Amino acid sequence: MEYRTNRKTGDRISDIGMGTAYLFEAGMEEGVRALQTAVEGGINYFDLAAGHGDTYPIFGEALADVRKDVFYQIHFGAEYSKGIYGWSLDLDTVKQSVDQQLTQLKTDYIDYGFIHCLDETSDWKKYQENGILEYIYTLRKEGVVRHLALSSHTPSVIQAVLDDVDVDMLMFSINAAYDSGEGDYAHGSMNERTAVYQRCQAEGIGITVMKPFSSGQLLDAAQSPFKVALSKAQCLQYALDRPGVISVLPGARNTEEVRELLTFHDLPEEEKDYSIIAGFELVDTRGTCVYCNHCMPCPAGLDIGLINKYYDLAKAGDPLAPEHYRTLEHGASDCVSCGHCDSRCPFGVNLSARMEEIREYFTANSKYGDR
Ligand code: SF4
Ligand code: SF4
Repeated sequence: MEYRTNRKTGDRISDIGMGTAYLFEAGMEEGVRALQTAVEGGINYFDLAAGHGDTYPIFGEALADVRKDVFYQIHFGAEYSKGIYGWSLDLDTVKQSVDQQLTQLKTDYIDYGFIHCLDETSDWKKYQENGILEYIYTLRKEGVVRHLALSSHTPSVIQAVLDDVDVDMLMFSINAAYDSGEGDYAHGSMNERTAVYQRCQAEGIGITVMKPFSSGQLLDAAQSPFKVALSKAQCLQYALDRPGVISVLPGARNTEEVRELLTFHDLPEEEKDYSIIAGFELVDTRGTCVYCNHCMPCPAGLDIGLINKYYDLAKAGDPLAPEHYRTLEHGASDCVSCGHCDSRCPFGVNLSARMEEIREYFTANSKYGDR
Protein backbone atom coordinates (compact mmCIF):
# COMPACT_ATOMS: atom_id res chain seq x y z
CA MET A 1 0.00 0.00 0.00
CA GLU A 2 1.10 3.57 -0.57
CA TYR A 3 0.11 6.53 1.58
CA ARG A 4 -0.50 10.22 0.95
CA THR A 5 -0.70 12.94 3.58
CA ASN A 6 -3.61 15.36 3.77
CA ARG A 7 -1.78 18.66 4.18
CA LYS A 8 -4.69 20.27 6.06
CA THR A 9 -4.76 17.64 8.78
CA GLY A 10 -1.50 15.72 8.64
CA ASP A 11 -3.42 12.44 8.36
CA ARG A 12 -1.46 9.76 6.48
CA ILE A 13 -4.02 7.99 4.34
CA SER A 14 -3.83 4.88 2.13
CA ASP A 15 -4.16 5.92 -1.51
CA ILE A 16 -6.55 3.00 -1.99
CA GLY A 17 -9.42 3.24 0.47
CA MET A 18 -12.88 1.70 0.49
CA GLY A 19 -16.40 2.85 -0.23
CA THR A 20 -19.36 1.04 1.29
CA ALA A 21 -22.20 1.25 -1.22
CA TYR A 22 -22.39 -2.56 -1.54
CA LEU A 23 -20.69 -4.08 1.52
CA PHE A 24 -24.01 -4.85 3.27
CA GLU A 25 -24.72 -7.42 0.55
CA ALA A 26 -21.91 -9.57 2.00
CA GLY A 27 -23.66 -10.02 5.36
CA MET A 28 -22.00 -9.98 8.77
CA GLU A 29 -19.49 -12.83 8.53
CA GLU A 30 -18.17 -12.14 5.04
CA GLY A 31 -18.36 -8.35 5.58
CA VAL A 32 -16.19 -8.64 8.71
CA ARG A 33 -13.69 -10.79 6.82
CA ALA A 34 -13.57 -8.26 3.95
CA LEU A 35 -12.92 -5.30 6.29
CA GLN A 36 -10.29 -7.12 8.29
CA THR A 37 -8.57 -8.20 5.06
CA ALA A 38 -8.58 -4.56 3.93
CA VAL A 39 -6.94 -3.33 7.13
CA GLU A 40 -4.40 -6.16 7.17
CA GLY A 41 -3.52 -5.16 3.58
CA GLY A 42 -2.86 -1.55 4.61
CA ILE A 43 -6.18 0.17 3.79
CA ASN A 44 -6.84 2.69 6.55
CA TYR A 45 -9.54 4.93 5.05
CA PHE A 46 -13.26 4.15 4.78
CA ASP A 47 -16.17 6.13 3.43
CA LEU A 48 -19.38 5.52 5.37
CA ALA A 49 -22.06 6.90 3.09
CA ALA A 50 -23.16 3.28 3.05
CA GLY A 51 -25.71 1.77 0.69
CA HIS A 52 -27.64 0.27 3.62
CA GLY A 53 -27.79 0.73 7.39
CA ASP A 54 -26.73 -2.90 7.92
CA THR A 55 -23.19 -1.79 7.04
CA TYR A 56 -22.52 -0.10 10.39
CA PRO A 57 -22.76 -3.13 12.69
CA ILE A 58 -20.38 -4.95 10.32
CA PHE A 59 -17.80 -2.19 10.87
CA GLY A 60 -18.41 -2.26 14.63
CA GLU A 61 -17.75 -5.97 14.71
CA ALA A 62 -14.75 -5.90 12.38
CA LEU A 63 -12.82 -2.78 13.30
CA ALA A 64 -13.73 -1.59 16.83
CA ASP A 65 -10.46 -3.06 18.12
CA VAL A 66 -8.36 -1.16 15.57
CA ARG A 67 -10.47 2.00 15.47
CA LYS A 68 -7.54 4.27 16.28
CA ASP A 69 -5.63 2.94 13.24
CA VAL A 70 -8.32 3.78 10.68
CA PHE A 71 -10.15 6.89 9.44
CA TYR A 72 -13.92 7.17 8.97
CA GLN A 73 -15.80 9.58 6.73
CA ILE A 74 -19.28 10.10 8.25
CA HIS A 75 -21.92 12.00 6.30
CA PHE A 76 -24.28 14.46 7.97
CA GLY A 77 -27.28 13.99 5.70
CA ALA A 78 -27.14 10.23 5.00
CA GLU A 79 -29.96 8.44 6.84
CA TYR A 80 -31.20 4.86 7.11
CA SER A 81 -34.68 4.96 8.67
CA LYS A 82 -35.94 2.68 5.87
CA GLY A 83 -32.82 0.49 5.91
CA ILE A 84 -31.46 1.62 2.55
CA TYR A 85 -29.58 4.89 2.09
CA GLY A 86 -31.64 8.08 2.17
CA TRP A 87 -30.71 11.78 1.98
CA SER A 88 -32.06 14.33 4.44
CA LEU A 89 -31.64 17.99 5.30
CA ASP A 90 -33.76 17.68 8.46
CA LEU A 91 -31.65 18.37 11.55
CA ASP A 92 -33.37 15.88 13.87
CA THR A 93 -33.13 13.12 11.26
CA VAL A 94 -29.45 13.90 10.76
CA LYS A 95 -28.76 13.85 14.52
CA GLN A 96 -30.58 10.57 15.00
CA SER A 97 -28.75 8.97 12.07
CA VAL A 98 -25.29 10.07 13.20
CA ASP A 99 -25.99 8.88 16.78
CA GLN A 100 -27.08 5.50 15.51
CA GLN A 101 -24.07 5.19 13.22
CA LEU A 102 -21.64 5.95 16.05
CA THR A 103 -23.31 3.41 18.33
CA GLN A 104 -23.23 0.68 15.70
CA LEU A 105 -19.66 1.52 14.67
CA LYS A 106 -18.67 1.21 18.35
CA THR A 107 -16.83 4.51 18.25
CA ASP A 108 -17.27 7.92 19.87
CA TYR A 109 -15.56 10.07 17.27
CA ILE A 110 -15.63 10.91 13.57
CA ASP A 111 -12.44 11.63 11.65
CA TYR A 112 -14.07 13.57 8.82
CA GLY A 113 -17.58 14.96 9.38
CA PHE A 114 -19.07 15.57 5.95
CA ILE A 115 -21.39 18.27 4.71
CA HIS A 116 -23.13 15.62 2.68
CA CYS A 117 -23.84 15.47 -1.02
CA LEU A 118 -24.68 19.04 -1.95
CA ASP A 119 -25.35 19.46 -5.66
CA GLU A 120 -27.46 22.63 -5.69
CA THR A 121 -26.59 26.03 -4.26
CA SER A 122 -30.07 26.06 -2.68
CA ASP A 123 -29.15 22.87 -0.76
CA TRP A 124 -26.15 24.63 0.74
CA LYS A 125 -28.38 27.48 1.91
CA LYS A 126 -30.87 25.06 3.42
CA TYR A 127 -28.10 23.02 5.04
CA GLN A 128 -27.02 26.11 6.96
CA GLU A 129 -30.54 27.42 7.69
CA ASN A 130 -31.56 24.04 9.11
CA GLY A 131 -28.65 24.12 11.56
CA ILE A 132 -26.77 21.08 10.25
CA LEU A 133 -23.50 22.95 9.69
CA GLU A 134 -23.79 24.45 13.16
CA TYR A 135 -24.36 20.96 14.56
CA ILE A 136 -21.14 19.70 12.94
CA TYR A 137 -19.29 22.70 14.41
CA THR A 138 -20.70 21.93 17.86
CA LEU A 139 -19.54 18.31 17.61
CA ARG A 140 -16.14 19.53 16.44
CA LYS A 141 -15.83 21.76 19.51
CA GLU A 142 -16.72 18.75 21.66
CA GLY A 143 -14.05 16.63 19.94
CA VAL A 144 -16.57 14.23 18.39
CA VAL A 145 -15.79 15.48 14.87
CA ARG A 146 -12.08 15.94 14.13
CA HIS A 147 -12.30 17.64 10.73
CA LEU A 148 -14.89 19.31 8.49
CA ALA A 149 -15.35 17.90 4.98
CA LEU A 150 -17.62 18.20 1.94
CA SER A 151 -19.04 15.74 -0.57
CA SER A 152 -20.46 16.93 -3.88
CA HIS A 153 -20.59 16.05 -7.57
CA THR A 154 -20.84 19.66 -8.74
CA PRO A 155 -17.85 21.97 -9.27
CA SER A 156 -19.80 25.25 -8.94
CA VAL A 157 -21.29 24.15 -5.58
CA ILE A 158 -17.89 22.96 -4.39
CA GLN A 159 -16.35 26.34 -5.20
CA ALA A 160 -19.18 28.15 -3.37
CA VAL A 161 -18.83 26.02 -0.22
CA LEU A 162 -15.02 26.31 -0.23
CA ASP A 163 -15.43 30.09 -0.47
CA ASP A 164 -17.69 30.05 2.61
CA VAL A 165 -16.12 27.54 5.00
CA ASP A 166 -12.75 26.06 5.80
CA VAL A 167 -12.95 22.47 4.58
CA ASP A 168 -10.28 19.84 5.30
CA MET A 169 -11.32 17.17 2.77
CA LEU A 170 -13.43 16.99 -0.38
CA MET A 171 -15.13 13.89 -1.71
CA PHE A 172 -15.68 14.24 -5.45
CA SER A 173 -16.81 11.89 -8.24
CA ILE A 174 -13.85 11.42 -10.59
CA ASN A 175 -13.29 9.28 -13.67
CA ALA A 176 -12.33 9.81 -17.31
CA ALA A 177 -15.98 9.76 -18.43
CA TYR A 178 -17.13 12.47 -16.03
CA ASP A 179 -14.10 14.57 -16.97
CA SER A 180 -15.19 14.17 -20.60
CA GLY A 181 -18.76 15.27 -19.89
CA GLU A 182 -20.29 11.75 -20.03
CA GLY A 183 -22.29 9.95 -17.34
CA ASP A 184 -24.81 10.64 -14.58
CA TYR A 185 -22.46 12.77 -12.48
CA ALA A 186 -20.49 14.47 -15.25
CA HIS A 187 -21.22 17.83 -13.71
CA GLY A 188 -19.21 20.83 -14.86
CA SER A 189 -16.92 21.30 -17.83
CA MET A 190 -13.42 19.86 -17.97
CA ASN A 191 -12.09 23.33 -17.10
CA GLU A 192 -14.41 23.66 -14.10
CA ARG A 193 -13.46 20.21 -12.86
CA THR A 194 -9.76 20.90 -13.34
CA ALA A 195 -10.16 24.15 -11.39
CA VAL A 196 -11.51 22.10 -8.44
CA TYR A 197 -8.53 19.72 -8.57
CA GLN A 198 -6.08 22.60 -8.74
CA ARG A 199 -7.73 24.63 -6.00
CA CYS A 200 -7.70 21.67 -3.62
CA GLN A 201 -4.07 20.94 -4.41
CA ALA A 202 -3.10 24.61 -3.93
CA GLU A 203 -5.00 24.94 -0.63
CA GLY A 204 -3.88 21.56 0.70
CA ILE A 205 -7.42 20.13 0.77
CA GLY A 206 -7.23 16.39 0.17
CA ILE A 207 -9.65 14.85 -2.33
CA THR A 208 -11.15 11.40 -1.82
CA VAL A 209 -12.67 9.89 -4.93
CA MET A 210 -16.12 8.37 -5.28
CA LYS A 211 -17.35 6.57 -8.40
CA PRO A 212 -13.91 5.85 -9.92
CA PHE A 213 -15.55 3.20 -12.16
CA SER A 214 -18.69 5.29 -12.82
CA SER A 215 -20.77 2.73 -10.89
CA GLY A 216 -19.16 -0.07 -12.93
CA GLN A 217 -20.12 1.37 -16.33
CA LEU A 218 -16.52 2.04 -17.34
CA LEU A 219 -15.63 -1.62 -16.80
CA ASP A 220 -18.20 -2.82 -19.32
CA ALA A 221 -17.87 -1.97 -23.03
CA ALA A 222 -21.63 -2.26 -23.49
CA GLN A 223 -22.38 0.31 -20.79
CA SER A 224 -19.37 2.59 -21.12
CA PRO A 225 -19.87 5.87 -22.99
CA PHE A 226 -16.46 5.13 -24.55
CA LYS A 227 -17.76 1.76 -25.94
CA VAL A 228 -14.50 0.22 -24.70
CA ALA A 229 -14.01 -1.36 -21.27
CA LEU A 230 -11.33 0.06 -19.00
CA SER A 231 -9.84 -2.06 -16.22
CA LYS A 232 -10.19 -1.21 -12.53
CA ALA A 233 -6.44 -0.54 -12.43
CA GLN A 234 -6.68 2.00 -15.26
CA CYS A 235 -9.57 3.79 -13.54
CA LEU A 236 -7.79 3.85 -10.17
CA GLN A 237 -4.60 5.22 -11.72
CA TYR A 238 -6.54 7.89 -13.64
CA ALA A 239 -8.12 9.13 -10.41
CA LEU A 240 -4.85 8.97 -8.45
CA ASP A 241 -3.14 11.13 -11.10
CA ARG A 242 -5.57 14.05 -10.68
CA PRO A 243 -4.08 16.91 -8.64
CA GLY A 244 -5.17 17.01 -5.02
CA VAL A 245 -6.28 13.37 -4.85
CA ILE A 246 -5.34 11.58 -1.63
CA SER A 247 -7.32 8.36 -1.85
CA VAL A 248 -9.64 6.51 -4.22
CA LEU A 249 -12.56 4.74 -2.55
CA PRO A 250 -14.00 1.96 -4.71
CA GLY A 251 -16.95 0.09 -3.23
CA ALA A 252 -15.69 -3.46 -2.66
CA ARG A 253 -18.47 -6.05 -2.19
CA ASN A 254 -16.56 -8.87 -0.49
CA THR A 255 -13.15 -10.25 0.48
CA GLU A 256 -12.32 -11.26 -3.08
CA GLU A 257 -12.85 -7.70 -4.32
CA VAL A 258 -10.80 -6.31 -1.43
CA ARG A 259 -7.96 -8.68 -2.33
CA GLU A 260 -8.15 -7.48 -5.93
CA LEU A 261 -7.79 -3.85 -4.77
CA LEU A 262 -4.80 -4.79 -2.63
CA THR A 263 -2.92 -6.04 -5.71
CA PHE A 264 -3.08 -2.62 -7.38
CA HIS A 265 0.40 -1.44 -6.41
CA ASP A 266 1.96 -4.75 -7.47
CA LEU A 267 0.61 -4.56 -11.03
CA PRO A 268 3.01 -3.70 -13.85
CA GLU A 269 2.82 -0.08 -15.03
CA GLU A 270 1.42 -1.20 -18.42
CA GLU A 271 -1.72 -2.51 -16.72
CA LYS A 272 -2.36 0.85 -15.05
CA ASP A 273 -1.62 2.87 -18.21
CA TYR A 274 -4.88 4.59 -19.18
CA SER A 275 -3.52 6.50 -22.18
CA ILE A 276 -5.89 4.43 -24.36
CA ILE A 277 -8.49 7.10 -23.52
CA ALA A 278 -6.67 9.49 -25.88
CA GLY A 279 -8.19 7.50 -28.76
CA PHE A 280 -11.76 7.75 -27.46
CA GLU A 281 -13.92 10.05 -29.52
CA LEU A 282 -15.46 11.67 -26.44
CA VAL A 283 -12.15 12.57 -24.83
CA ASP A 284 -11.04 16.00 -25.93
CA THR A 285 -7.67 16.54 -24.33
CA ARG A 286 -5.68 17.14 -27.52
CA GLY A 287 -2.49 18.97 -26.65
CA THR A 288 -3.15 18.74 -22.88
CA CYS A 289 -0.99 16.65 -20.61
CA VAL A 290 -3.07 14.34 -18.38
CA TYR A 291 0.04 13.16 -16.44
CA CYS A 292 -0.32 9.54 -17.58
CA ASN A 293 3.44 8.98 -18.19
CA HIS A 294 2.73 6.87 -21.25
CA CYS A 295 5.62 8.75 -22.93
CA MET A 296 8.14 7.43 -20.41
CA PRO A 297 10.93 6.48 -20.09
CA CYS A 298 12.84 9.66 -20.88
CA PRO A 299 16.49 9.05 -21.79
CA ALA A 300 17.46 12.12 -19.76
CA GLY A 301 15.67 10.76 -16.68
CA LEU A 302 12.85 13.32 -16.50
CA ASP A 303 9.61 12.39 -14.71
CA ILE A 304 7.53 13.90 -17.48
CA GLY A 305 4.05 13.60 -15.94
CA LEU A 306 5.14 15.06 -12.62
CA ILE A 307 7.03 17.96 -14.22
CA ASN A 308 3.92 18.83 -16.24
CA LYS A 309 1.69 18.54 -13.16
CA TYR A 310 3.87 20.83 -11.05
CA TYR A 311 4.03 23.34 -13.90
CA ASP A 312 0.24 23.43 -14.29
CA LEU A 313 -0.23 23.70 -10.52
CA ALA A 314 2.36 26.45 -10.18
CA LYS A 315 0.59 28.46 -12.87
CA ALA A 316 -2.73 27.86 -11.07
CA GLY A 317 -1.29 29.39 -7.88
CA ASP A 318 -0.24 26.35 -5.84
CA PRO A 319 2.46 27.85 -3.58
CA LEU A 320 4.11 24.47 -2.98
CA ALA A 321 4.32 23.33 -6.59
CA PRO A 322 7.56 25.23 -7.42
CA GLU A 323 9.18 23.77 -4.31
CA HIS A 324 8.06 20.25 -5.25
CA TYR A 325 9.39 20.85 -8.76
CA ARG A 326 12.80 21.79 -7.44
CA THR A 327 13.06 18.63 -5.38
CA LEU A 328 12.88 16.50 -8.55
CA GLU A 329 16.14 14.89 -9.56
CA HIS A 330 15.80 16.18 -13.12
CA GLY A 331 14.01 19.31 -14.36
CA ALA A 332 12.97 20.73 -17.72
CA SER A 333 16.43 22.17 -18.25
CA ASP A 334 17.77 18.61 -18.44
CA CYS A 335 15.62 17.87 -21.51
CA VAL A 336 17.84 17.14 -24.53
CA SER A 337 14.97 17.57 -27.03
CA CYS A 338 15.33 14.03 -28.31
CA GLY A 339 11.65 14.00 -29.32
CA HIS A 340 11.01 10.50 -27.94
CA CYS A 341 8.11 11.72 -25.79
CA ASP A 342 6.57 13.71 -28.65
CA SER A 343 6.26 10.57 -30.72
CA ARG A 344 4.92 8.52 -27.77
CA CYS A 345 2.30 10.93 -26.40
CA PRO A 346 -1.18 9.82 -27.54
CA PHE A 347 -2.66 13.12 -26.37
CA GLY A 348 -0.73 15.15 -28.94
CA VAL A 349 1.32 17.16 -26.45
CA ASN A 350 4.35 18.82 -28.03
CA LEU A 351 6.53 17.92 -25.10
CA SER A 352 9.93 19.08 -26.24
CA ALA A 353 8.53 22.59 -26.88
CA ARG A 354 6.64 22.48 -23.58
CA MET A 355 9.80 21.53 -21.68
CA GLU A 356 11.39 24.72 -22.99
CA GLU A 357 8.30 26.67 -21.81
CA ILE A 358 8.52 25.01 -18.38
CA ARG A 359 12.23 25.75 -18.10
CA GLU A 360 11.60 29.41 -18.95
CA TYR A 361 8.73 29.64 -16.45
CA PHE A 362 10.65 28.29 -13.48
CA THR A 363 13.76 30.26 -14.43
CA ALA A 364 11.75 33.50 -14.59
CA ASN A 365 9.99 32.78 -11.31
CA SER A 366 12.95 31.82 -9.18
CA LYS A 367 16.19 33.38 -8.12
CA TYR A 368 17.68 29.90 -8.24
CA GLY A 369 17.14 29.36 -11.97
CA ASP A 370 15.22 26.40 -13.33
CA ARG A 371 16.57 24.10 -10.61
S1 SF4 B 1 3.04 14.18 -22.33
FE1 SF4 B 1 1.41 12.83 -23.04
S2 SF4 B 1 2.06 10.76 -22.59
FE2 SF4 B 1 3.38 12.14 -21.44
S3 SF4 B 1 2.43 12.33 -19.42
FE3 SF4 B 1 1.59 13.98 -20.64
S4 SF4 B 1 -0.26 13.19 -21.58
FE4 SF4 B 1 0.89 11.42 -20.80
S1 SF4 C 1 12.24 15.40 -25.47
FE1 SF4 C 1 13.08 15.85 -23.44
S2 SF4 C 1 11.50 15.18 -22.00
FE2 SF4 C 1 11.05 14.23 -23.95
S3 SF4 C 1 12.01 12.21 -23.83
FE3 SF4 C 1 13.48 13.61 -24.84
S4 SF4 C 1 14.74 14.40 -23.17
FE4 SF4 C 1 12.93 13.49 -22.22
